[in-house]
Amino acid sequence: MSISKLPKLPSIRDLIRIYNLKAKQQLSQNFILDKNITDKIVSLAGLELEKALCVEVGPGPGLLTRSILDSGAQSVIAVEKDSRFLPTLRQLQEASDGRFDVLLDDMLKIDHSLIIQKGLQLGSNADNHIESFDYVHLVGNLPFGVATPMLVQWLHLLSLKQGIFRSPNVSMSLMFQKEVGDRIVAGASDSARGRLSVVSQSICDAFRIYNVPASGFVPRPKVDATVVQLRPLEKPLLKSSLSTLEHVVRFSFMKRRKMLARIFKDWDPEQVALLEECEIDPTLRPQDVSTERFCQLAHIIEQRNIKLP
Ligand code: SAM
Repeated sequence: MSISKLPKLPSIRDLIRIYNLKAKQQLSQNFILDKNITDKIVSLAGLELEKALCVEVGPGPGLLTRSILDSGAQSVIAVEKDSRFLPTLRQLQEASDGRFDVLLDDMLKIDHSLIIQKGLQLGSNADNHIESFDYVHLVGNLPFGVATPMLVQWLHLLSLKQGIFRSPNVSMSLMFQKEVGDRIVAGASDSARGRLSVVSQSICDAFRIYNVPASGFVPRPKVDATVVQLRPLEKPLLKSSLSTLEHVVRFSFMKRRKMLARIFKDWDPEQVALLEECEIDPTLRPQDVSTERFCQLAHIIEQRNIKLP
């Protein structure tokens, strides 16, 4: 496949100035203006490009979008909430040779069938009557303020194989503030381990692919950022609904410094036996328990219809 590149475009810095695109704090807008950084994110994400739909969340003025298109992606749909970016994104669309379109919408509320429909209408997909995508890549420098609810929503959809996650091959390459990224990838006994680690790792392999210092953004945020990649596990550890696992983990981590025996005893002394049944050492603290064991615990709790506090 020949790699399609974008023609020369005005710099993002100039576009921000021309269109007076002041960052809005309430939409967690921190822009990347250095293409070396966005190119690196895309190359490290290792996107499959053939018959792939790339969905970008929050393109803003569009530098990461440019890197995605420059990597040869044929079908890119961006979902952006802030209409001020439409002129720069439409300009990119015109330069993309039919490979890119944008939906002005809230990624937390959008009907995913709109994204897929738009993707199927792009350039060669419409000509070749493509009906679905073999690969879906979700990419984005996420708005930090809503990054966690976004990820949790996508994990739910992935666990149910709904929306864009119906595709047989899905990957997510997402930028979070570093502390959140640390939590997503933290294994058992890591001090950063928490609810998000267990929930993510119950259905995905989660690993860090790139760190971006706060100085890489305009305006500069208070914290560094990290790009995490999540790829669905071939054999998910999750045996219950993701909601039950979430509930079990939220409850267990509420008193993260206590031993599980104490946490369970405070809830209901009769339920301490569940720990042994799941081969969980009751003297462990929640952060030391493997994802597999938490999944087993959620499975039994759901099967027996045990009411958690
Ligand atoms: N991708 C650009 C970059 O890397 O320079 C901008 C990233 S900025 C951190 C986050 C972007 O997400 C902004 O463009 C913001 O308007 C957009 N955004 C915020 N909330 C959103 C939502 N709920 N749905 C879609 N986009 C959203």
